[in-house]
Amino acid sequence: MKTPVCDSDVKAGQLCESCKRRLAEGKITQLDFEVAKILYGINERYNISAASFSKALDLGRVVLILTEGEVGILIGKQGKVVLELSEALGKKVRIAEMQGDVKKTIADIVAPVRLLGVNKIFHEGRELTKVRLAKSDMAQLPIDIPSLESALCSLLEEKVAIAFE
Ligand SMILES: [Zn+2]
Repeated sequence: MKTPVCDSDVKAGQLCESCKRRLAEGKITQLDFEVAKILYGINERYNISAASFSKALDLGRVVLILTEGEVGILIGKQGKVVLELSEALGKKVRIAEMQGDVKKTIADIVAPVRLLGVNKIFHEGRELTKVRLAKSDMAQLPIDIPSLESALCSLLEEKVAIAFE
């Protein structure tokens, strides 16, 4: 099974120095580690070793689990895997394919709010990604802005600024 942290970290229950650094840089999150541990537990009962878990994003009421592999493996027969994930996390879980075009994933996360664009900008000498959303749809945003910002940071592995235009 592929996860964003080392196999040995999952077994030891703690992150190695290299993964701790990636955690500090926001490239992985505690939630990624949590989901990796849950999946290893599930793998002992149902064989999901072909699964490829990329990232878990906390979207408030829902945790979005992104995979580079087949969505079906992480859903499981009769939805068993997704159900166990949901019970362990105490939230609804959605499994989605990590698309080549990250804009599609962002559009899916913010829906029904319209995504106007994703641009690289320089702010105070640092590069960050500006995610532009339709101001007129703002009330329909499925999650609060700080949670959205941290979910998008984790998705893009970059600093993100959300703008309503
Ligand atoms: Zn590690």
